[in-house]
Amino acid sequence: MGFLNGDKEDKKKKNLIPIVYAEDCSRKAHCPVVDICPVGAITQKPGEPPEVDGTLCNRCGDCLTACENYVFDFQEISLDLGDLEL
Ligand code: SF4
Repeated sequence: MGFLNGDKEDKKKKNLIPIVYAEDCSRKAHCPVVDICPVGAITQKPGEPPEVDGTLCNRCGDCLTACENYVFDFQEISLDLGDLEL
């Protein structure tokens, strides 16, 4: 079960983008978290930290706790239009 579930949380999910703290990654030959993602959003090139495709990610949060170095996270985005008139 992901950490953000239920209709009430759907709005929150839309404001989250998945990020990877690459500097904290131990760069294993095969990142085990790649196999945990239920939608195949995590990929890894040899010797590189994993990457998350934000267009595939469903914000389930499974990767956040699966990594021993906690390199996966979400960043909340907001758009403040200020006084902009449309
Ligand atoms: S939050 Fe879920 S869907 Fe998104 S990258 Fe992590 S495991 Fe995959």
